[in-house]
Amino acid sequence: MGIAIRIVEIAISAIPPDIEDARIERVNLKVGRLTAVVPESLRFCFNIASSDTPLASASLEIEETPIVIECGECGAETTIERPPFACSECGGGKVTVVSGRELDILSIEVADPEVEAVEGRE
Ligand SMILES: [Zn+2]
Repeated sequence: MGIAIRIVEIAISAIPPDIEDARIERVNLKVGRLTAVVPESLRFCFNIASSDTPLASASLEIEETPIVIECGECGAETTIERPPFACSECGGGKVTVVSGRELDILSIEVADPEVEAVEGRE
């Protein structure tokens, strides 16, 4: 839940100040598999955290990034689906996590009020 609140806060602060009554249509997120974030529950929490904010009708797009490890034995960089961390090349367990821990907001898309009026959404 804390993550969803943070995302809402960051997205609101990212709204360009010259847009009046801005509403955010979509938030694009990149989430590493190691963050233990479950996309479905994050979406659920996001919907709660975003109510009564400019993000109330925004959708959350989540791109899951794989776990990439670097082997300390043979130096190979391999992608694994889940722990345990073992090198796919030599089976070594002395590995460093290269990526998979990130939780980044890639972009937010602000709704165009005129387009919205034409489409009559809501
Ligand atoms: Zn290796």
